[in-house]
Amino acid sequence: MGKKKVLVIGGGGREHAIADALSRSPQVGRIYCAPGNAGTAAIAENVSIKDTDVRALKEFALSNGIDLTVVGPEAALNAGIADEFKSAGLKIFGHSASATRIESSKEFAKELMFRYGIPTADYHSFSDYGEASEYVSSRPLPAVLKYDGLAAGKGVVVAETMEQADSALKDMLLDHSFGQGRVVVEDYLTGPEFSYMCFVSGRNVYPMPLAQDHKRAFDGDRGPNTGGMGAYTRLPFISEEDERYAFENILKKAACAMADEGCPLCGVLYGGLMKTPDGIKVIEFNARFGDPETEVVLPLLESDIFDIFDSLAGGQVPSSPIVWSDEATMGVVLASKGYPGSYAKGFEISGTGDVSGKIYHMGTKAGEDGRLLTAGGRVMMCVAKAPSTALARLKVYEDVEKIHCSNLFHRNDIAKSSSTVLSGKVLSVKMKDEMKEQIVALEAKYGRRPSLAVVIVGEDPASQSYVRGKIKAAEYVGMDGKLIELPATISQDELLYTIADLNSDGSIDGILVQLPLPSHIDSNKIIEAISPEKDVDGFHPTNVANLWIGEPCIVPCTPSGIMKMIESTGVNPKGKTAVVVGRSNIVGKPVAKLLLDANATVLLAHSRTADLGAVTRQADILVVAVGKAGLVNGDMVKPGAVVIDVGVNRGADGKLHGDCIYDSVFPKASFVTPVPGGVGPMTITMLMANTIECFIRRMHNC
Ligand code: NDP
Repeated sequence: MGKKKVLVIGGGGREHAIADALSRSPQVGRIYCAPGNAGTAAIAENVSIKDTDVRALKEFALSNGIDLTVVGPEAALNAGIADEFKSAGLKIFGHSASATRIESSKEFAKELMFRYGIPTADYHSFSDYGEASEYVSSRPLPAVLKYDGLAAGKGVVVAETMEQADSALKDMLLDHSFGQGRVVVEDYLTGPEFSYMCFVSGRNVYPMPLAQDHKRAFDGDRGPNTGGMGAYTRLPFISEEDERYAFENILKKAACAMADEGCPLCGVLYGGLMKTPDGIKVIEFNARFGDPETEVVLPLLESDIFDIFDSLAGGQVPSSPIVWSDEATMGVVLASKGYPGSYAKGFEISGTGDVSGKIYHMGTKAGEDGRLLTAGGRVMMCVAKAPSTALARLKVYEDVEKIHCSNLFHRNDIAKSSSTVLSGKVLSVKMKDEMKEQIVALEAKYGRRPSLAVVIVGEDPASQSYVRGKIKAAEYVGMDGKLIELPATISQDELLYTIADLNSDGSIDGILVQLPLPSHIDSNKIIEAISPEKDVDGFHPTNVANLWIGEPCIVPCTPSGIMKMIESTGVNPKGKTAVVVGRSNIVGKPVAKLLLDANATVLLAHSRTADLGAVTRQADILVVAVGKAGLVNGDMVKPGAVVIDVGVNRGADGKLHGDCIYDSVFPKASFVTPVPGGVGPMTITMLMANTIECFIRRMHNC
């Protein structure tokens, strides 16, 4: 059988994503896009026919032997393209004009939902301004006013005051700004919104992964509504049960209702849904793929999309089950400055060849000299796929920075709810549980358990609480923990004798002297006195030197804990830019060395670094260990970065604060450690790991 010719109607990012998915089908030979854009031109032949010029499109399909047409925009469906193509014997994936009413007529959709018990907000519809105004003033604000017709996403007003409601009603019902349609007045619902798209043919409904888009122009969901500034899949706020409920009671029910009403669907049904305190409800139905949701959903499709479109358009079921990747996707839209208001076009875009993910063009065109130019409000979307949304986010924002154009802007907080708290507490419990098993095995093999001696001098309350935490951790993992408490008056020599005894005690594997020591004792002398083989803190000059020259050594606990936390995110430091703020010998410098060893490019800064933000903003991995509360805020963080906040500072409020302003950093980063509960528990855990390591080395040397 010959390869198929497919025509995709439309010219945005959605159609680029559809054409991209079709290009992966072994059955598809040629793809045409009408009108397409500079992105589709690379995988399809662009045909310069407007998406609503149904007659010209039909002529094109007939004269070019098109096997299947897939419709993107609602305007083409509303213009009756599916009816026209079908009556000419052409196969098309897109609803009839009468089925498209589920999107084009808000009143039709509302009546359908009420008749078939599909959950949605209460509503009334009006054609008379006076009646509408009277109804709205009798109801609690805010009021949701929807123009009953196609209004390119601009026909919905959420009025928070009576003045706003009145002006919108006048606009829609007296001035007829969108046309002669009625106005639907709906109750205001609250909750997170999400998009649920399904492939539908009659009563056969095949779900796609859920997505959420970001409608507002600017960070923090501020600014005017747009067509969508970014989207992501794998929604943290929707459970499997929610998804099942929405499928059965909303999407499937609506498809069956449309079939019962004599206008069966054949295309994509898009449920714009909200998870309200009273359950999931429909905000709107659309009769086509969403944009930008399609750009993040279709890259997850592992089945042949031609088979899906072709079978459903022919009234059959797909030949094999539809399979989706369980990875996550995330995408950020680059829009022209000024969008969604007026904006200039024709600016050169460079760097699109350097990205690692996908780019879907939305409003681009090729200049006469082959340069890529902006040609729309939403210009392009960078999309990446990864095992987690947070990782996809990291990749996308890396790609966004590679694209250069003087007239583009983007949001920095897409999928910010995907930011992950990097909990040292959780990771350390997991590691300690593994150590527990390891220690049982070690005892069986060597006849005894590892043992740790912790020396504390004086009664400093902070030190007391640290050492008790260490002994508790030793007991938890099943090793012997010996606490040696010495008076603050002890002389340096007496302390040195104690350490010498511990060095020669064959039953002790690790020695830790809690710092700080009383001022009459030289800490360096004490650290140097601990045998390097038992130096579980990794502070002995021999261990420090070996770390720097790359010889086997005991790695200090906090830096090795930080590396474990970075490893747990799945972000590989190799090739990444890591910035370490803080240059102490205990944290900053060894972390920098370990990151270098992991093949990161490392910048080492400190609290006096001029324009610290300019340095930290380069970091894919940012480690802050200075001991200055609030040193780093969200503006100093690269979107999607991994942020490890080591600092522990006691505030005037008596609480512990990190070096980063957590609330401001969290939405920007992919992963952030909290304080407390971040690095701290890992330091203690790595102390246990170092003790086990010392034990094993000593056993091997015996
Ligand atoms: P230090 O007091 O040793 O270092 C902090 C700052 O002092 C450095 O950033 C640097 O400041 C200056 N400094 C220290 N040593 C040197 C040096 N050799 N040369 C030049 N400057 C130096 O603190 P830590 O590194 O031990 O700890 C930093 C923060 O992390 C603190 O808030 C601490 O409480 C916390 N911490 C947390 C741990 C945990 O387990 N959660 C463990 C260890 C520390 P400058 O920027 O001015 O150059």
